[in-house]
Amino acid sequence: MAFNVQEIRKDFPILQREVNGKPLVYLDNAATAQKPQAVIDCIVDYYSNYNANIHRGVHSLSQEATDAYEGARKKIQEHFNIKHAHEVIFTAGTTHGINLVANGFNKFLKKGDEIIVSALEHHSNIVPWQMLCERTGAELKVIPIDEKGVLILSEYEKLLSKNTKLVFVNHISNALGTINPIAEIIEKAHEKGAAVLVDGAQSCSHIKPDLQALDVDFYVTSAHKMCGPTGVGILYGKEEWLNKIPPYQGGGEMIAEVTFKKTTYAGLPHKFEAGTPNISGGIAFGAAIDYLNSIGFNEIEAHEHELLRYATDQLTTIEGLKIYGTGVDKTSVISFNIEGIHPYDIGTIVDKLGIAVRTGHHCAQPIMDYYKIPGTVRASFAFYNTKEEVDALVKAVKKAKTMLT
Ligand SMILES: *Cc1c(COP(=O)(O)O)cnc(C)c1O
Repeated sequence: MAFNVQEIRKDFPILQREVNGKPLVYLDNAATAQKPQAVIDCIVDYYSNYNANIHRGVHSLSQEATDAYEGARKKIQEHFNIKHAHEVIFTAGTTHGINLVANGFNKFLKKGDEIIVSALEHHSNIVPWQMLCERTGAELKVIPIDEKGVLILSEYEKLLSKNTKLVFVNHISNALGTINPIAEIIEKAHEKGAAVLVDGAQSCSHIKPDLQALDVDFYVTSAHKMCGPTGVGILYGKEEWLNKIPPYQGGGEMIAEVTFKKTTYAGLPHKFEAGTPNISGGIAFGAAIDYLNSIGFNEIEAHEHELLRYATDQLTTIEGLKIYGTGVDKTSVISFNIEGIHPYDIGTIVDKLGIAVRTGHHCAQPIMDYYKIPGTVRASFAFYNTKEEVDALVKAVKKAKTMLT
């Protein structure tokens, strides 16, 4: 089926609404994506027709819920080309997955060991490693960026050594949209015997990654960035890693046998899935993946790339407007400022015109410090956005500029 953005927009009830008396122009997709009817229906169907706890009861409803939940795990496995379904661990999202791995590495690190992160990281990808370093005495090293917001790979290679135990990098920067060369980063880390965790939260809605081909050790993402519900995501880990790292939380569903003397843990994936999970969320994550694949990732990428090109051309006609993140490999995120105007003031005025953009440091303060700015205005586009919406943004930013200068 040919890509038809107007048809696609009909799948998203929220895109039909108005904000402040104007049609909603939703350009905050990097924070969370909107949900198609198929995902909303999936959640309603679960609670209306087969709500039951999973893996516990022999009764029919519990079987149905378990089948749907495990079916979603299988869909996720296939989508990311993961070898075994039990290498897919359901989490509460990217942040949870990162903390699970950081906690798991307690027992592998000691003083003198090093962890490398990139300067393009989200706070959720910095703080857990700082905490891990505090606990273990390991040291945190940072891959710097250049003026374009691109990682300097020659500096990365200098940081790598036999002391490097872990490398953490996002696939795409949420603040600037830069696409990082993760295949190369993984290969270089493996040459030194270090493990790699990739944060896919920002890339999974634009790119379909092949995790086996990448040979990545761990990968985390959140369903809500991919048109799925909030509060659910996955951690992928290679089987040998997941067997080595200890469970993160204790509770029901993660044990094989419990006595007061000793508890033995369940096998994968249950060892990391203590307690009743977000069942409807997991099932709806599967529905979101089905939906995105029905549109097609090649089509999504092509349309978003065209929006990025068009919006960049249009916005740069505004005098005094500066875009941060100008690397060749970038996705449909535009972070910008207008000389002499605070980003928050632009965000407030464009909101009055129905346009949702993000303002602030985007949970990536080190990037803002690098550019010596308090924050930016960030417009992030999804496959359901249109050129008319770009025009509306440009018009609104021009109006804000006139009002504020
Ligand atoms: C959104 C995002 C996160 C955090 O995801 P949560 O769902 O809030 O845990 C982490 N990293 C990147 C790159 C993101 O875009």
